[in-house]
This record gives sequence, C-alpha cells and structure tokens, in this order.
Amino acid sequence: MAASLRRWYTEEMEIHRLGDLEIVIEKWGSRDYAKVSYPLRYGCFSEIISPDVTCQFGQNGELRFLQGRGPNWPHPAEWLKRSAGGDWIYYSAGEYREIYDLFGEYYVPRLSYRSNCIFSNDPFQNDLVKATLQAWGSLCERLRQFLQDIPTGSLRAFVERVCENDPGELHNRAERLHALLGGRVTVLPPDTRHVDYDVIPVVVADGCLYHCAFCSVKSARTFQPRSPANVRAQIQGLRELYARDLYNYNSIFLGHHDALAAGSEPIEFSASRAYETLEMESSHMKGARLFLFGSADSLLSSREDVFRTIHRLPFHTHINVGLESADPETLAAIGKPITAQCVEKAFERMLEINRDYPNLEVSANFVCGGQLPPGHLPSLVSLTREKLDRYWEKGALYLSPLLDGVPLQGNEKRKLLLDFREVKMRARMPTYLYLIQRL
Ligand code: SF4
Repeated sequence: MAASLRRWYTEEMEIHRLGDLEIVIEKWGSRDYAKVSYPLRYGCFSEIISPDVTCQFGQNGELRFLQGRGPNWPHPAEWLKRSAGGDWIYYSAGEYREIYDLFGEYYVPRLSYRSNCIFSNDPFQNDLVKATLQAWGSLCERLRQFLQDIPTGSLRAFVERVCENDPGELHNRAERLHALLGGRVTVLPPDTRHVDYDVIPVVVADGCLYHCAFCSVKSARTFQPRSPANVRAQIQGLRELYARDLYNYNSIFLGHHDALAAGSEPIEFSASRAYETLEMESSHMKGARLFLFGSADSLLSSREDVFRTIHRLPFHTHINVGLESADPETLAAIGKPITAQCVEKAFERMLEINRDYPNLEVSANFVCGGQLPPGHLPSLVSLTREKLDRYWEKGALYLSPLLDGVPLQGNEKRKLLLDFREVKMRARMPTYLYLIQRL
C-alpha cells in the first residue's frame, strides 16, 4: 500500500500524516491532576486521529483513550479510557454541576462490568461506542499495512510500538499485571479519583479482617501480609511491565483490602521500594501519592509511630476506611462484625489523624441505599455532624450504594439521592457517592 508521508515539527511534538491518519508523537499533558469540566490529559502521550476515531497512547504504545468522531458521538467531553487491568471505562459528562455534587468530579466513570452505579442507561450499549471500540482493532490492521513504507525514525518506532500492542497483546499485558499481583485488584480506594485512578498497584497483604456478608469485592482468603521477597518481585515485575510509561505515573496503591493492618514495616518497605524502583521522583506528574485501605480495627490498633512512619514517606498518603454504619442494627443487617462503638471511635481517630498529620488524609466509607434499617441515616448524620466542631475540608465521607450490579429505578433512586443530600448538607466534611471501581 502506498502511504503518503508528510512530516513537520512544532516546538513540542512531531506531527505526521499517514494516508488519512494524523499522528502526533509526544504531546505533553498537564503535570498536575485537576478537577476541571473538560477532558484534560495528563503526562506524555501520542495520538492517532482517523476519520472515525481519535486514539491516545501511553509511552509503550499501549492504547489509553478512545473517542468516536463525528456529530453522533454522544458528547464532545465523553471518552473511553482503558485501565491497566484491561477494562474499558466510559467517562460520562452529563450535567456537570449535579455530577460534581455527587462524585466530586466532573464526570461519572461508567464501567463495562457489574458494580454499584446508580444510573441505568449503559453507554456500552450505544452503537457508536461499540463501533468505536471495534474501530481500534481495524486501525491496528491498517497501521501494519503502512509500516513497510515508513522509514526508520521516530514515526516508525511509534507505529511499531502501537502495532505490537494490538487488542490481543493489550489483553496479555492486563493478564500479566494480574498474574504479577497474584490476582485482580477487585476494588480501588475512592480517593484514587484524585489521580484519575492512575495508580500502580503493589500488594502488601491478601484478605481482610471481617469478610462482611454484604461485601461484593472481598476475597475468601484470611488476612495475610506478603513477604518482602514477594513485594520485591512484584515491584521489579511492575517496573518491566510499565517500562517507558512509568514516566506518566506518580501514584501507588498498596493492596488489597487492609494494607494498614500489615503494620508500619511492610508499608514503609513497599512504599519506599516502589518509590525508588518505579522512579516516582522522575515522573512527569508532580506530587507522588500513596493510597491504601484500612479498617476500623487496623486504624484503632495502629500505634502513633505507624502514622508517623507513613507521614515521613515521600508521598501524600490517603487511607480509606470502611466503617459502613454507626447503627448497631444496620451493622448486623449487612453482616459487618464490628460494634457501633468501634465505628464511632474509628471515626474520631480518623479526625485526629487528619488534624495531626498534614501529609496524611483518612476518608471513611458508609453504605447507603438498599433496604437498610431506619436507624442508619440518623446515626450517620449525627456522627458526621456532631463529632466535628466546624466544616473540615480534609478527609472525605463516601457513601457506597448497596446495589450489586442492578441499577436503581424510580422511587428507589430518588430515595437514595434524597438520603445522600441529607447527609451531604449536614455532615461537616466533603461527602460524595462511591462507585466501586477495580483495576
Ligand atoms: S467491606 Fe472490607 S472488610 Fe468487609 S469484607 Fe469487604 S473488603 Fe473485607
């Protein structure tokens, strides 16, 4: 096939034309994650624009973002994003103000798998979205045909990388990630929204302390920290897997469900090792962040030196703690084996840590929706209002809809949103809905 090649440079990036494709190599996005009402790109990426689709790629030539072109695409601010775990996520823009109130972001991540989303319309059923996902495979085929005519140089190197990462290889890369970690990351902390869920996962402990009946993301394993050798091997494998694209990451998630319960040594070892080996200091993105889950018991049993140690790490750290309810009847109904007193103490401890450690931020999850006992909402409002003397920006309250994959309709949805508003208006801290997202 005869490819018409033209090439010109701008100050910051190379732009090439290949037949009807425009190829932009090394576009520079923002160095800071930001809450903005338009699609902002982060890090360094490359782009291919065809008549049907715009594709954006990470530094290894792996596809990260897709958008259909033309007037029928649902919304100019809406995109598909591919996670490192191999899932497609549809960034729905909808009505900005309402979305921001609900989620703290200007978009709703719509997932291609069962979760607890409250919205019923499924963008993955949209014909143009389906066609755009398929267009990507065809584009790979076309690029392969062009390849023989492209002289050695940066364009050829880029097109080769993209062709190597065709849909089959992207699937293999995701499988390699899961295998490296010893299984899939079934849930990310809600705070990872602050870095657009772009975290590199390192597993420091399997299982959790409670195995609550209501939980849809738990593992059957009993809580067990990983050995230092296992953590070292994971991090080395992650370095090889993320390779050139490490430059675009500045955040680590220490998995799985209660890394805080592993104690200060494993946390310090894993976080420091990841920071060095994954070259967080040289990342294009500013301000390294660390994310982990805790629990009521791990928060209360961790001595002060645990938080001092975390505070000294070269990260701003977010710990998310699942408290679920301050009402004894609700805790029993959802099968969470802790007492309301324990929840209250953990909530107070969270507030103390947020006040005492500038580099550390603890947020809490509570359940909402479903057929919860009548005491749940009043106990939540009272806890999140009366334990604070004024409104505090630091930390957050996340309300997680109890849905298990079945979107809400009519009155049920209205009731959930009314309950959410009630808590949001009365709690003295930022309050959002938590949509469970995996990696
Ligand atoms: S909510 Fe947390 S502690 Fe309870 S089962 Fe799920 S992961 Fe384990």
